[in-house]
Amino acid sequence: MRAVCWEGPRKIVVEERPRPMITDPHDAVVRVTSTAICGSDLHLYLGSAPGMQKGDILGHEFMGIVETVGPEVRNVRPGDRVVASFDIACGGCRSCGHGAFSSCDITNPSKDQEMLYGARTAGLFGYAHVTGGYEGGQADYVRVPFADHDLIHVPEDLPDNKVLFLSDIMSTAWFATELGEVGPGKTVAIWGAGPVGILAAHSSQVRGADKVILIDNQQYRLDHAATKLPGLLTINFGKEKVKEALEQVVPGGPDVCIEAVGFHYCKSTAHAAMVKTLMETDTADILNELIYCCRKGGTIACVGVYVGLTNGFNIGAFMEKGLTLKAGQTPVQKFWHKLLDMIKGGKLDPTIVITHELPVEDAPQAYKMFNDKTDGCIKVVLKTSM
Ligand code: NAD
Ligand code: ZN
Repeated sequence: MRAVCWEGPRKIVVEERPRPMITDPHDAVVRVTSTAICGSDLHLYLGSAPGMQKGDILGHEFMGIVETVGPEVRNVRPGDRVVASFDIACGGCRSCGHGAFSSCDITNPSKDQEMLYGARTAGLFGYAHVTGGYEGGQADYVRVPFADHDLIHVPEDLPDNKVLFLSDIMSTAWFATELGEVGPGKTVAIWGAGPVGILAAHSSQVRGADKVILIDNQQYRLDHAATKLPGLLTINFGKEKVKEALEQVVPGGPDVCIEAVGFHYCKSTAHAAMVKTLMETDTADILNELIYCCRKGGTIACVGVYVGLTNGFNIGAFMEKGLTLKAGQTPVQKFWHKLLDMIKGGKLDPTIVITHELPVEDAPQAYKMFNDKTDGCIKVVLKTSM
C-alpha cells in the first residue's frame, strides 16, 4: 500500500509499505478514502516535536471503509463507512470513564512523558513515539485499535469532506469553545486563522457569541474566514497592535481568548534544549499575549499544541488578573455524535476551511504548501483515489 512517511525535517515521501493487519481482537483495519494534513503534523514536518523516527507513517485525520475487524469488535462491521478519532482511547479505563479520552490510561505504551508530565496521555495515530508510535492514516490502510470506541459510523449521504474533520479539527475547534464556555453575551478572540482557528470562529458564532475576532498575520486566511463567516471581525497582527485593536472592539478585553496557534510559532524554539525526548521552548510569547489581552477574570482556552517546558510564562499577570487557563488534547469521542448531528442539520459546515483536494501521492508538495502558506492554502484533503 502507499503511505506518507516522515524521513526527517521537511522530508516527506510516499512509499510502498505492507498493509497493516489485525493484531488485537479489538482492532479494525480501515481502507482510507480521505485523510487530511493537520497543523499538528507541521510540528512533526518541521522536526520541532520530538520522538519521530525515519519511516514513520504520518496522519491522524482520516476516514474510510472498514475492511476487517477483530473477533471482539461489536459496533462496526466490514463495509461500514467510518471516521476515526485522532486520539486512541480504550473507553474503559479510569480517564475514559470520566470522558477524558485524550488522557486514556492504557493506549500509550511510551514512558517518556511521565518524566515531565507525571503521567502518560492517550496514544495518537501517526504522532511520534512519545505517543505510542502508532502508524498513521495518511495511507491506503490503517489499523485502528479499540475500534468500537475510536470509530464513528457516518451516514452514506454525507460526503467525506463534510465529516472527515470530526476526527480532529472540527472536534478541536468545538472543544476550544467548550473550554471557554462560549455562548450568548460573550466576546471571543481567537489567535490563529488556520483550520482550527477558523472552525473555532465558526463554532463561536453557532454558539451565539456576541463578537468573534480572529487574529493572524496571513491576510488571505483572515479574508477567507471573513467571507465564509459574515459578522466575523479580524485583526492582522502584522499591521496592527493586537491589544490596541482589540480594545477598540471590546473595551477591557475579550471574555474568552482561544489559542489556536501552537508552540512552533513561538519565538526562539530553534535552540530548544532537549530534556531526553521532551523539549523546552524559549518563550511563551503567544500565550503571554492572550494573558495580556484577556479581560480581568476571563478565560483562556489553549488548544494550540505545546510540548514540554516553556520559560517566560507571565504567571504574574495571569495571577493578578484572576484568569482561568484551560487546555488539552481534544477528547474527540465526547463531542463527535453531537457534532455529526449538527453537520447533518446544516448548523455546522467544516468544509469552509478546505482549499485543496489532492491525490495522496502529492503529499510532499501538500505539506510544503500548507507549511509555507502558498497557493492560498488553508486545509488540504488527500484522497486515495482521485
Ligand atoms: P496552522 O499552522 O495552519 O494555523 C496556525 C495559524 O496561527 C497560522 O495561520 C499562523 O499564521 C498563525 N499564527 C502564527 N503566529 C501567530 C500569532 N502570534 N498570533 C496569531 N496567529 C498566529 O494550524 P491549525 O491546523 O489551525 O492548528 C492550530 C494549532 O492547533 C496547532 O498548534 C495544532 O497542533 C493544534 N491542534 C491541537 C489539537 C488538540 O487536540 N488540542 C488538535 C488539532 C490541532
Ligand atoms: Zn490534528
